[in-house]
Amino acid sequence: MAKEELECSFCGRKKPDTNLLIAGLDAHICDRCIEQAHGIVIEESKQSDNDELSSELMLKKPQQIKAFLDEYIIGQEHTKKVMSVAVYNHYKRLLQPPTDDDIEIQKSNIIMVGQTGTGKTLMAKTIARMLNVPLAIVDATVLTEAGYVGEDVESILTRLLQAADYNLEKAEKGIVFIDEIDKIARKSDNPSITRDVSGEGVQQALLKLLEGTVVNVPPKGGRKHPDQKFIEVNTEHILFIAGGAFDGIERVISKRLNMAAIGYKASHDDDEIVDVDNLLQYIIPKDLKDFGLIPEIIGRLPVLTYMDPLDANTLRAILTEPKNAIIKQYKKLFNMDEIEFSITDGALGYIVKKAIEYKLGARGLRSLCEEILTDAMFEMPSSDDKKLNVTKAYAESKLTKTKLKKLKAVS
Ligand code: ADP
Repeated sequence: MAKEELECSFCGRKKPDTNLLIAGLDAHICDRCIEQAHGIVIEESKQSDNDELSSELMLKKPQQIKAFLDEYIIGQEHTKKVMSVAVYNHYKRLLQPPTDDDIEIQKSNIIMVGQTGTGKTLMAKTIARMLNVPLAIVDATVLTEAGYVGEDVESILTRLLQAADYNLEKAEKGIVFIDEIDKIARKSDNPSITRDVSGEGVQQALLKLLEGTVVNVPPKGGRKHPDQKFIEVNTEHILFIAGGAFDGIERVISKRLNMAAIGYKASHDDDEIVDVDNLLQYIIPKDLKDFGLIPEIIGRLPVLTYMDPLDANTLRAILTEPKNAIIKQYKKLFNMDEIEFSITDGALGYIVKKAIEYKLGARGLRSLCEEILTDAMFEMPSSDDKKLNVTKAYAESKLTKTKLKKLKAVS
């Protein structure tokens, strides 16, 4: 074939009309057709991603969800059960075929109340990992009403889009974890005192998202700008999980419990003992309202659950038992240098004791281990010594008072 007769075998364009014509065995393809074909490949793979997502979501029953959570999260039995059911129902709602029976299954957005470091974020992360859906973790404290310094509420969805690599369909089935929701509680019971920039206004703005609506989201984040292109995100199928420490809510609960107990005991012979060390287990939506969340927000987070405080046994189990427990991670790190790593029960007990004594919580366990093991991790890879057994005495020698105080200061 003469050179000038070459043409794209797909669209028939002659070579001079193309930017590029690539030769195959018996055919040619031009740059435009390559781009089109590439677009089709991307669309197809998105479709199969989404099909995969749906079938994955279909598979897990609540007990299976709970079993998965058990692998990563120690204790917190009540919340794991409640979450399993809520997540199951949420995705059942999402996957239901259209029906004409007028029964609309409402969203099961979740709110978790519990001290910091008890595993709220871990819970959301583990659920997202199991379902293989994108997860955005946002801090409610940075959110402000539109027009004020801080981030617009829509920025939450920007994060989710980013977590989904801008695959809109995936993002719309994702999970948003809103941390520190208690920090946007209304500061005062009198809403008219001053403008409450970071409180009620933000709660109002969040309402729309929680319920399910189409939001114009600036894809790169930042302030809304008239020239910026928006992506329309429908939040109807996004699962929102809110978490917060709600410092001081125990007072609200105990006040209510005492009152109820008196009123109740008058007519019933009820002498159920209140577990004063874990008052959060008695929490009801009204307590959140008394704390300063507006009733509409509480209504849109209908699944309310609590985290148990972490005692010594739980902390110890957290060190060694979860699938990616801290101690397992160090073992793996040392093994990569062919170093045999072990730790005695005494040393584990000592770490837990220090975590409690210095109020470092579960998050502090990692920093404590890091302080104890840094010298070994620095020296041993270049030494002939291939065995490390961490005893209580070894741990004590590495954790000086100064270091402990420093850890407390940063936690
Ligand atoms: P929160 O969100 O409640 O402040 P996180 O989920 O961030 O707490 O927990 C902090 C760290 O402590 C996590 O990275 C995790 O390793 C550990 N942790 C806390 N609670 C648990 C638990 N119940 N099981 C396993 N690990 C936990």
